Amino acid sequence: QQLSLKENLTLMATHESKLELVKSQAQMPGPGQALVHVRATGVCGSDVHFWKHAGLGPWKITDKTALGHESGGIVIAVGEGVVNVKPGDRVAIEPGVPCGKATCNFCLTGQYNLCPSVDFYSVPPADGTLRRYHLHPAGWLHKVPETMSYAEIALLEPLSVCLHATAQAQLRLGQPCLITGAGPIGVVQLMCANASGCSPIVITDLSQERLDFAKTVVPEVIPFKIDLSKTEQETAREIVATFTKACSGVGGTGLNGEVMPAVTMECTGVESSIATAGYATQPSGLVFVIGVGSSFLKNFPFMHFSTNEITLKFLFRYRDTWPRAIRLVSAGKIDVKKIVTAQFPLERAKEAVEHAADRTKFSVKTLIVDEE
Ligand code: NAD
Ligand code: ZN
Repeated sequence: QQLSLKENLTLMATHESKLELVKSQAQMPGPGQALVHVRATGVCGSDVHFWKHAGLGPWKITDKTALGHESGGIVIAVGEGVVNVKPGDRVAIEPGVPCGKATCNFCLTGQYNLCPSVDFYSVPPADGTLRRYHLHPAGWLHKVPETMSYAEIALLEPLSVCLHATAQAQLRLGQPCLITGAGPIGVVQLMCANASGCSPIVITDLSQERLDFAKTVVPEVIPFKIDLSKTEQETAREIVATFTKACSGVGGTGLNGEVMPAVTMECTGVESSIATAGYATQPSGLVFVIGVGSSFLKNFPFMHFSTNEITLKFLFRYRDTWPRAIRLVSAGKIDVKKIVTAQFPLERAKEAVEHAADRTKFSVKTLIVDEE
C-alpha cells in the first residue's frame, strides 16, 4: 500500500493539566489493525475532566494521554488478516476493547463493558481517538452506510450510552418519564425516551438555555427549571404536579392520584438531583442513574427508596449498541446530529475543548472535524 499521509496531529492532556496538540508520523497497521483517518470527534465531559484534573476517578494521567472517544472516520489501510473492513469504508470506532477471552466471565457472557481488562481508548494508559490518524483493532470498528455523515458516526458513541440505558431501564410506550439534566446525554436520552414512546416526558436542568435547546430537539418535552433554593421534596412535588397537569389530572398512578414518572433517567450525577429523582418517581418505579458524580453520597433518601420500593439502577458505558445505533440513525429515527452546537477543525482542537469547558458560553456538543 502506497499512502501519502499528512502529519498526524493528536490532542493530548498532560499530567500538569495542559492541552498539547502533538505532531507525529502516522504508523502503518500491524496484524489485525486498521488505520482510520478520523474525520469527526465529539468532545465529552470526561475529556474536559481528564484535562483539568489530569485524571478521572481511579484513572490518572502519568505523562500524556490522547483525549477523545467519540469518533468516526474512514479506513485508509488494514493490516494482515483483517477481513471485516477495507480501505474506503466509513467506520465508527467502538472505543472500549475488552479482552475477549473465554477465561473472562464478562466477555464470555456478553457483558463485555464490565471486562476487568478492557482497554478504553482515552482512559490512561490507552490513548484516545482525538487525532488525524488512529490505529484500532479492526474487530472493534463498525462499518456504517455511505450516507451517514461523519458527525453522525461520531455521535453513535453518546447514543450508545443512551441506548444501553434505554434497554436496561426498559423504557416503553405510554410511560411517564422524567429526565434530569439537559446536557448532551440528557438530550440524547430524551430522543431515545421519545422514540420509545414514553409520554409525557419532563426534562430538568438549572440552565434555561439548555432546557430551551432540549425543546428545539424534541418539541413534545416539558422543560422544568430547577431552583436550588427549594428542597428536593418541594421540587419533586412541583415536578409531579407538572406531570399531572400535562395529563389533565387523569390517569394518575401516584399516591393521591397524581401522575408520577414511572421511570427517571438521571443524567446529572448530582446528589440533589438523585434525591429529587427518588422523591418524584412513583412507588415501585425506577431511578436509572447514568450520571456520574462524587464517590460517596451524603444525602441519599434511603428510607424513601425503601418504603416505596423504588429501584435504583446504574450503568457503565455500553455493550452491543453500535449495530442498533447505526440502524436508528440511518433510518432517521434518531437525529443525533441535532445536539451539535459548535464545530472546530482539528488544527484548533485545543480551542474546541476549551470552548466545551467554558461555562460562560453556551454549548451542548462540540465537534472537531478534519478535512479529507
Ligand atoms: P453535562 O455536565 O454536560 O450535563 C449535565 C447537566 O445537568 C447540565 O446541563 C447541568 O446544568 C445539569 N444539572 C446540574 N445540576 C442539576 C440539578 N441539580 N438538577 C437538574 N440538572 C442539573 O454532562 P453530560 O455529558 O450530559 O453527561 C451527563 C452525566 O452522565 C455526567 O455525569 C456524565 O459523567 C455521565 N455519563 C455517564 C456514563 C456512564 O457510563 N455511566 C457515560 C456518559 C456520561
Ligand atoms: Zn474480558
